[in-house]
Amino acid sequence: MTVRNVARVTAIANVVVVSVGLVALALLPKTGDDGRASRTVVHPSKQALPAATKPAPVTATVESARKIKANELGVVPVIMYHRILAHRISSLDRTPEQLRTELERLARDHYVPITAAEFVRGDIDIPAGTHPVVLTFDDGWPSHFAADSQGMPRNDTAVSIIYQVAMKYPSFRPVATFWVNHHPFGLKDEADQTRAVKWLIDHGFEVANHTWTHADLHVLKTKQVKEQIVREGRLLKRIGAPESETFALPYGSEPKKLSVAHDGSWDGTSYHFDGVFLAGAEPSVSPYAKTFKRYAIPRIQSNGTKGECKRWCSTYWLGWLDKHPAERYTADGDPNHVSLPKALQGNITPKRAKMVIAY
Ligand SMILES: [Zn+2]
Repeated sequence: MTVRNVARVTAIANVVVVSVGLVALALLPKTGDDGRASRTVVHPSKQALPAATKPAPVTATVESARKIKANELGVVPVIMYHRILAHRISSLDRTPEQLRTELERLARDHYVPITAAEFVRGDIDIPAGTHPVVLTFDDGWPSHFAADSQGMPRNDTAVSIIYQVAMKYPSFRPVATFWVNHHPFGLKDEADQTRAVKWLIDHGFEVANHTWTHADLHVLKTKQVKEQIVREGRLLKRIGAPESETFALPYGSEPKKLSVAHDGSWDGTSYHFDGVFLAGAEPSVSPYAKTFKRYAIPRIQSNGTKGECKRWCSTYWLGWLDKHPAERYTADGDPNHVSLPKALQGNITPKRAKMVIAY
């Protein structure tokens, strides 16, 4: 089955996967369907946090691109996480061990994280032969980021786990995107919110707009949609986050007037996003592809293979990508060129056509 074949059912799966997650209030087993026993891990310390650096640039050639089978028109997994809880409540939750296991799998499979903003900009600067992955965390939970008494990421938060994996696998770049609402990371005080956001931005993470109250934008009037986005944008500005380049639709639910998800203004404040993300249910096409829809970028829910997740969640899709290496984005290591097999040359967006290395 190709990515193209599943595209037409994505809209349905998008809604199904998310609704199932939200209504699944029954307590789940303490270990998830793909959970593993805990193991000893090294916790990040102030002295040893790996940096979110980019590799030294190389110049790709037809020969080098062919040798590593570079394909910068291949698909990219954008993985969607919600709460990270030792005891899952909703099926959308992942345990720290499940997150660690998935990130270690990505590291072993030569994936390198980039932020959602880097992805939509086409700023995919990762080593030759590796694959980009976008790690996205929704709703700003305390289990994504919280500082301990030393001001360091608290144990078993998403940020702490990302660093643990980066320490174990130095090729794993410790970056991710956090889409937050009016209480980022569960913090109510703006001074605390400012400290948290500063820590994340200073370390290379992205913190961006996910509406003020996590409203279902489809049921709101256009003016209310704009208000939801502007109120959150104003908060993010007050607490020191850079202007959001990306936006994730709560529940993946699109407003009736689609354009207000990326452009609009309310009460004298305007906004624009370069990329809008959905909540399901397949890998995204490359931002260099003609078919890239920057205002409807699909994501993959992190989960096992039960129920709806049989075909739509991360365990399924990461396995699919392993079995279809020619469909996956593989970098040439050269940020100034887009390398691809000759057969795909017609699929590149005209804006990038001059940068092509085809083999
Ligand atoms: Zn959300």
